[in-house]
Amino acid sequence: MSKVFVIDTNKQPLSPVHPGYARLLLAQGKAAVFRRFPFTIILKETEEQPVVQSLRLKLDPGSKTTGLAVINDATGDVVFAAEIEHRGTAIKHALQHRRAVRRGRRLRQTRYRKPRFDNRTRCTGWISPSLESRVANVLTWVKRLMRVCSIGAISLELVKFDMQQLENPEISGVEYQQGTLAGYEVREYLLEKWNRACTYCGARDIPLQVEHIQAKANGGTDRISNLCLACDSCNKAKGKRDIRVFLAEKPDLLARVLAQAKASLVGAAAVNTTRWVLYRRLSALDLPVECGSGGLTKFNRTLRKLPKEHWIDAACVGKSTPHEVKLAGVVPLQITATGYGNRQMCNVNEIGFPCSKPKGAKKVRGYQTGDLVRAVVTSGTKQGVYVGRVLVRANGFFDIRTNQGRVQGIGYRFCAPIHRSDGYSYRKGAGHSSQVSATRGFPARFL
Ligand SMILES: [Zn+2]
Repeated sequence: MSKVFVIDTNKQPLSPVHPGYARLLLAQGKAAVFRRFPFTIILKETEEQPVVQSLRLKLDPGSKTTGLAVINDATGDVVFAAEIEHRGTAIKHALQHRRAVRRGRRLRQTRYRKPRFDNRTRCTGWISPSLESRVANVLTWVKRLMRVCSIGAISLELVKFDMQQLENPEISGVEYQQGTLAGYEVREYLLEKWNRACTYCGARDIPLQVEHIQAKANGGTDRISNLCLACDSCNKAKGKRDIRVFLAEKPDLLARVLAQAKASLVGAAAVNTTRWVLYRRLSALDLPVECGSGGLTKFNRTLRKLPKEHWIDAACVGKSTPHEVKLAGVVPLQITATGYGNRQMCNVNEIGFPCSKPKGAKKVRGYQTGDLVRAVVTSGTKQGVYVGRVLVRANGFFDIRTNQGRVQGIGYRFCAPIHRSDGYSYRKGAGHSSQVSATRGFPARFL
């Protein structure tokens, strides 16, 4: 089950404890809540030479969501799990918007402006801002977790597909050719390349078979560029016919299949780029970094009969994965990157003219938009207890976004901070896409 992180008075990380024990320590006054996300308590005494379990932090970086799990290698216990939702597309849109406004401004007939010559350079290792934010999100959380628990090693899913093993299977030994791993790398690659759907009819969420575009009976090979995915009925319908004959009545589809068969995986390549950057930056943390491939992760997860979730994938990364991964009672923390606002001084309309007042001060009475607060209103018409993210207003009467909806006009005097805005928002429960958990808030005892 998810454990509670513990640090001593000197902020040295100790072994995580059972939530029940953490509640006992809090009730007895031996500890205090240090941080809500991830939930950490601080002891009121120093531990002399503490015995601390060394834990392993495992990461499954994705383009939209990164899975994260802290696992005890010796026992197989998952101590902490989280999923980070990145804001790559939001950054891309913001930059495109800024660029459009800038272009509009410079094209306006105002004054002559000499063109700048090409004086802009990029430092080595530059990656685009949207990719940079993904790497930075992960690195932020690795560092945050290293502060509250003792992490002895990192496992990283470095590549989605082991390209070398795909290209040149004979170098990787007999295990990949005939053994239990056979087909995993290839299958994962094909699922990504053909968007997890039948190539010919587009059916999804059904068992898909590896299909040879040029049938083996006609001399087609097992080369990856000759493979696609087909459902059972399409596979049988095509048989050993030539693709040009089979799709003669669907020229559009034929052209697309032929083009895609040759195309490289641009998206996957971008993800692979960030993984390498992440790998280099993690290696700089002076911890051993173990690497695994996506095929191996899926193999580990399937072998242990575990469901597909980002955080479970993270727990299954790499060869170090314990024989039994204990997931019972683990509730992943859903982390969404929100950023810290923007530097634009006021809003502009669609043609780039200012259309609002300049922004006010970011902090009002010690609070800023995004802080998680608990307001106990004892007087007036809005009596009650409200917990949620705050939206500050200059007059000192804030809005609070609770699970039940937005409450307006809560005086700052009634508020007490729970967790200061730190660039992320939090939610407990299953995946971001899950309907069931969308309404589930934080457990009452954490607030
Ligand atoms: Zn089909």
